[in-house]
Amino acid sequence: MKNLLLLVLSMVAVAREATAQDTECVRERAAMVENIRTYARSDASVLGQQGLSESVLEAMGRTKRHLFIPERSCSIAYADSPVSIGQGQTISQPFIVALMTELAAVAPDHVVLEVGTGSGYQAAILAHLARKVCTVEIIPSLAEAAAKTLKELAYDNVSVRLGDGYAGWPECGPFDAIVVTAALGQVPPPLIEQLKVGGRLVMPVGAAYTTQHLTVVEKIAPDQTTTRAVALVRFVPFTRSKD
Ligand code: SAH
Repeated sequence: MKNLLLLVLSMVAVAREATAQDTECVRERAAMVENIRTYARSDASVLGQQGLSESVLEAMGRTKRHLFIPERSCSIAYADSPVSIGQGQTISQPFIVALMTELAAVAPDHVVLEVGTGSGYQAAILAHLARKVCTVEIIPSLAEAAAKTLKELAYDNVSVRLGDGYAGWPECGPFDAIVVTAALGQVPPPLIEQLKVGGRLVMPVGAAYTTQHLTVVEKIAPDQTTTRAVALVRFVPFTRSKD
């Protein structure tokens, strides 16, 4: 009888753990990290043989993507696909988030600007790797929801601002890295101004509603930059405020 009771109790404990794993999407998140690790290695033309760095993969493994999307479903959140976040906007597929983060070469003492907060997911990834993240979003409801999510998840080193990110965020900079997650035909000059010498900007450059070049700009001197296109991508348009 006592043995039976112990067996029932241990079965309850196992079931509880399984439920906790389900709500945390532990298995799905681990599988996503392995997928993007393998994918990065299989296409050495983008990142070279070494693929994604462990620090970026670790940030991807620690960030609960399902809490940044409207349907908090594990299977939707951790598939390597973009997800709709409302207002016609999407959060990029995990591999692209990891790739942009890798290309931005973020270090622990860095101050990073993101333009296009969306759900706040990319900002959260950057927050694991940098000292401070400043992120600008042009759609009020998205800026508000992202700020709420990031606060609830205790991302204390992220500041969200509502506005047109074309002008950057001078009071928060200068920046060691800038990540732009919406597509525009050219890199906004204010962003280059707010980038430190030695810093990198990663952005989809090209026309809206078509494929763009994921572009890395390095500021090598106060008035000098180098630019390289790394991959073809498809991002939502960079919009401008009317004022
Ligand atoms: N990085 C986001 C996804 C970005 S989708 C995430 O991790 O969820 C692109 C976002 O850029 C959208 O939310 C869109 O509203 C925003 N955006 C477009 N133009 C902008 C601008 N000029 N300034 C700031 N945000 C802009």
